Amino acid sequence: MLQKTKDYLMDEFKIKGNILDFCSEIEKKMNKRLRDIDEIREYNQLKVLKAMQSIGLSDRHFSVSTGYGYDDIGRDAIEQVYAEVFRTEDALVRPQIISGTHALSLCLYGILRPSDEMLSITGKPYDTLENVIGINDIENGQGSLRDYNIQYKQIDLTAKGEVDIKKVMDTISPKTKLIYIQRSTGYEWRKALTVNKIKDAVQQIKKQFPNILVMVDNCYGEFIEPLEPTEVGVDIMAGSLIKNPGGGLAPTGGYVVGKKHLIELVANRLSAPGLGKEGGATLGINRTFFQGLFLAPHIVAEALKVAILAARVFEELGFEVCPTSEDERSDIIQSIKLGTPESVITFCKAIQESAPVDAFVTPEPWDMPGYNDPVIMAAGAFIQGSSIELSADAPIKAPYIAYLQGGLTFEHGKIGIYIALQRLAEKNIIKL
Ligand SMILES: *Cc1c(COP(=O)(O)O)cnc(C)c1O
Repeated sequence: MLQKTKDYLMDEFKIKGNILDFCSEIEKKMNKRLRDIDEIREYNQLKVLKAMQSIGLSDRHFSVSTGYGYDDIGRDAIEQVYAEVFRTEDALVRPQIISGTHALSLCLYGILRPSDEMLSITGKPYDTLENVIGINDIENGQGSLRDYNIQYKQIDLTAKGEVDIKKVMDTISPKTKLIYIQRSTGYEWRKALTVNKIKDAVQQIKKQFPNILVMVDNCYGEFIEPLEPTEVGVDIMAGSLIKNPGGGLAPTGGYVVGKKHLIELVANRLSAPGLGKEGGATLGINRTFFQGLFLAPHIVAEALKVAILAARVFEELGFEVCPTSEDERSDIIQSIKLGTPESVITFCKAIQESAPVDAFVTPEPWDMPGYNDPVIMAAGAFIQGSSIELSADAPIKAPYIAYLQGGLTFEHGKIGIYIALQRLAEKNIIKL
């Protein structure tokens, strides 16, 4: 760190010098790990570049469609590029998909039919999916899959965070149509499932049950590894454009990639049977989708560096973190067990304070739609709710875990960590 930088952080951001020294030392120690991330970034950048070149991306793809949005060549091109990058037959990439939850929900409603069964093999899905599936106390008649007599079963991960493959094999029945895998941790204390582990599970399942469909919730997983789940046998996968693949630029949207006939079903659900992928005005958003995807491998690497540095910093302060600074990673989430309501709230407020947007706002825990506990969210983002931007959130429930993710630049993520340490130190939650 330049002396000038240190002075600036001390004078203008009021961070104590010993906090900065502590973090700089740790960053040095993590050097090898940080360089490894650059190598994955380089490969993924090539993959994205090649996909854009191979479809002949050009200025004409950046035009604006309105109304029905028929013959939108830019929209077709972005979908071709996604299919190419994720090595799938087809893709649906739309601003009309409002979030990751919506993209995942479209897949489930598009594919599953009454009396079919879905089997989650990574335990309880992400909180917002509970309302979709109907596995919480959501009333009948609200339109969950349960209302349509779509059955749900789940197999928890083993204590070591692995897919319990034997139990999965014993649970699959002729009714099981779709296996559901969530790659990222969600609000759980577990490591993300690596693509290799997804591959092992898919291979074993498909060997014995070749007709079963495998779906992956890929939120936060894109461009972390050189391979994506759809390259190891997964049939359909979905995620959010205000997370990794939007590269911080996509202002809204979601994507689904997979087998052609499945994408057709999902598109019929998004629009209407018969309309499928044919319509949907893009209102000038296409260029941003392309540009965001082009930057995504870089931005994801930045976010990953923030996560790894935070892991090591909090490890050295004696906190339990998941994953550890040395663990293999498959998402951008860093869970930090801070242990008290005060400490998670202090942490999230500090991340908000470090933001370029709304730094003056103080976040408070609130009952967010789709979540079961009050959640505090720090999101001083250019794009509302974007969590590829530096953000932190924590459900206010024991054991009081803060989830840190994102960072469009490593430099900004570091400032977030410094301010968090400063505020935690002021409250005597840490000694530095
Ligand atoms: C964020 C997330 C979702 C839901 O995405 P939203 O865009 O917030 O609706 C689903 N699954 C996982 C693992 C996520 O991280």
